Amino acid sequence: MTFECVDCGKVLSSEQVNNPFLCPCGGLLDMAHDFRGMDAERLKQLFDRRLAERMTPYAGGVWRYKELIAPELPESFITTKYEGNTGLYDSAPTAAYAGVRRLLLKAQSENPSGSFKDNGMTVAVSHGRSLGYTKFTCTSTGNTSSSLAMYAALAGCSSYVLLPDRDISMNKVLQTLAYGASLLSFRGTYDDGIRFSEEHSEALGLYVCNSVNPFRIEGQKSIIFETAHQLGWKLPDWIVLPGGALSNATALGKGLRELKQLGFIDKLPRVAVVQAEGASPFHRMVAAEAAQLVAEPQPRTRASALNIGNPPSWKKALRYTIRPTGGVTVSVSDREIMDAKAVIDRSGIGCEPASAASVAGLKKLVGEGTVGADETVVCLLTGHLLKDTDAVREYHLDSGTRGAFANAIHSAELQPEAVRKLVSEC
Ligand SMILES: *Cc1c(COP(=O)(O)O)cnc(C)c1O
Ligand SMILES: [Zn+2]
Repeated sequence: MTFECVDCGKVLSSEQVNNPFLCPCGGLLDMAHDFRGMDAERLKQLFDRRLAERMTPYAGGVWRYKELIAPELPESFITTKYEGNTGLYDSAPTAAYAGVRRLLLKAQSENPSGSFKDNGMTVAVSHGRSLGYTKFTCTSTGNTSSSLAMYAALAGCSSYVLLPDRDISMNKVLQTLAYGASLLSFRGTYDDGIRFSEEHSEALGLYVCNSVNPFRIEGQKSIIFETAHQLGWKLPDWIVLPGGALSNATALGKGLRELKQLGFIDKLPRVAVVQAEGASPFHRMVAAEAAQLVAEPQPRTRASALNIGNPPSWKKALRYTIRPTGGVTVSVSDREIMDAKAVIDRSGIGCEPASAASVAGLKKLVGEGTVGADETVVCLLTGHLLKDTDAVREYHLDSGTRGAFANAIHSAELQPEAVRKLVSEC
């Protein structure tokens, strides 16, 4: 395995790459595996056989694909909760809402800590352990920290979480706290925390699990591997996902490229990255065909997982995902996000606000004619409905903020007449 800097192009060996896994120039590193001698048909058979595994790491939806993710990692360091293994649901009501004939929802919300961050975090923590680290850190708006805290606890290690003091969901903070992480709330932004941890963590003996950690990206590739596997290695016309820091958009594009290189698939689907209007620097750059990303100093969206003004992985997302797949970007308002979320929730699948940006974005792209009504689509749902219960209350119950698809709590005496009224009217 080698690493290449996305800024200066320098190639480094794994011995030359140290925590926090950046190039000496400060650029992000991109991992390249040596896939020579690998045969897609043999790997397909291996991955199929592993579907029968029970209590080994290969029973999970990340390590099932270990040969394509972390081939060199010794098995004894693997820390797993059988993450991945998530449902892929054909949702007719959501398809009708978005305006396409067939829409599949890939529910990464069903991961053990409730978000797709688990797909990457299991690999980062396992890798950190293989290097001898017992203390882990991240800066997070929520889901990264709950995932890290869970895996660190499972491994008998410690985690230290830097928490910007605004725009976080209390559910996620409480989950992190409950898993036993040490939390440091600071006055500042996500970007401040990222910069701090990159600068100081190694001296503090902390393994850095921020989204630029290349092992997290490798683990997140499993989302597209598992989706393709579930579909018999036939992918849809489009894959749509929300973009915040853009690590998942990067992982998706990298995973697709490798599947094609290895001969698992022969055609790349197109990818659409959806940002929230108040935090959409990547969309603005792509739409303007600009050469550089201009950071948004005051990002603002109700979808807290997307509230990132300076996405660290934008170059990788452009290189891996937008350019090679004929990809597009789009931005949607918080209202569009929350309405799409209500539709996904009441279809029985459910997600947190950020995830619903995918369906809201798809609806917009269909409206603009970018995605055809006859095309097939997979939308990634990134986090669980219970990750942000304040958002649910605001949408359904609070008088000033109720949404178009709001549900209600009816109060009455417990009498047949009252229930008859409920049944006939609702
Ligand atoms: C982290 C996260 C995102 C954004 O993913 P990036 O890799 O930062 O672009 C979207 N939705 C949820 C629920 C998340 O936790
Ligand atoms: Zn460099």
